Amino acid sequence: MITKLPKFTDCFAEVIATPSISSIDPRHDMSNRAVIDLLAGWLADLGFAIELVPVLEQPEKLNLIACAGQGKGGLVLSGHTDTVPYNEQAWHQDPFKLIEKDNKFYGLGATDMKCFFPIVIETLKQIDLTSLKQPLYILATCDEESTMSGARALVRAKRTLGRHALIGEPTGLKPINMHKGIVMESIKLKGRSGHSSDPALGINALEGMHTVISSLMQWRKKIQAEEQNPAFKVSTPTLNFASIRGGDNPNRICADCEMNIDLRLLPHMDLEQARADIRKTVMQSIDGSGLSVEFDSLIEGLPGMQTDANAEIVKLAEQLAGEPAGTVAFGTEGPYLNSLGMDTVVLGPGDIEQAHQANEYLSMDRIKPMQHILTKMIEQFCLKESGYVG
Ligand SMILES: [Zn+2]
Repeated sequence: MITKLPKFTDCFAEVIATPSISSIDPRHDMSNRAVIDLLAGWLADLGFAIELVPVLEQPEKLNLIACAGQGKGGLVLSGHTDTVPYNEQAWHQDPFKLIEKDNKFYGLGATDMKCFFPIVIETLKQIDLTSLKQPLYILATCDEESTMSGARALVRAKRTLGRHALIGEPTGLKPINMHKGIVMESIKLKGRSGHSSDPALGINALEGMHTVISSLMQWRKKIQAEEQNPAFKVSTPTLNFASIRGGDNPNRICADCEMNIDLRLLPHMDLEQARADIRKTVMQSIDGSGLSVEFDSLIEGLPGMQTDANAEIVKLAEQLAGEPAGTVAFGTEGPYLNSLGMDTVVLGPGDIEQAHQANEYLSMDRIKPMQHILTKMIEQFCLKESGYVG
């Protein structure tokens, strides 16, 4: 059976050659089905039971759950199948052709994170799946780069998988157990226009936004004083004033003003609570002004991730990587997996500096160490009897 599997570079070339862009812009958004079908074929050949799980509201987007072995413990090796869109002019090559050059593999998704699947498959070729004492899952998700709809669908379905999880996002082989949560909000103020010569003729939304900004800066100061975590490079939550739009002619009172903000919250902070605090602060600041306000969430919001520093998989990842677990400045599917009862560590062979860039590459010298880490994790969590009873 296993002889049917392509060799590593062919496997890598095939996933790179199979476009699976996800984007909130429908002009770029694609199905990930073709990548899922490739992985399903290879994993079935290895002896895995395959389950394809479409995301209900987007039937062209799928998660793959491949499982070998049985039990309530076990390990999940997880990655996303989608890539971001690309800028053709900036690439020196066809982004869908895997090119080996200067000890690097180039291609769209080479580092973030199509490389993970061929590396997992190469590792699995050396493992006797019939001797598993605990289950081994390979999870391949959709839409991580856009809406996280794949991971959200698993959470909605309360899908139980293994006890421990590794996500192979680009961390330069460093173990990660924490990242911040993200909220992006739009605040629209509506006043009334009128002739500029007499302020009493209108209600100025731009002046209202000035008050809103001041109040939000006060709120930011307060939460930054209250909430800190020295593990992060920026140890406090942040609030970025990102864009503002409003008004038209200089001789008219500004009737409409819209501002977008971005919040980065420490892992334990609740997204909904932060949203509610922002809205309350804004409403109080314009109270009595005659302005009305409309709020919109620009994204659903990504929870922060915080896996217990003493979790078995964090400890093992630290030992194998030879350095302590840390934080990253990007979001992952980790918080969703954690909410399903896994202890999740993020550790992958790529570099985030390469991700989402033209001429993205994976250094070849990352492949063997990643295989070693995966092998040891499978040995620890799937090949040994576990005391875990669920
Ligand atoms: Zn990624």
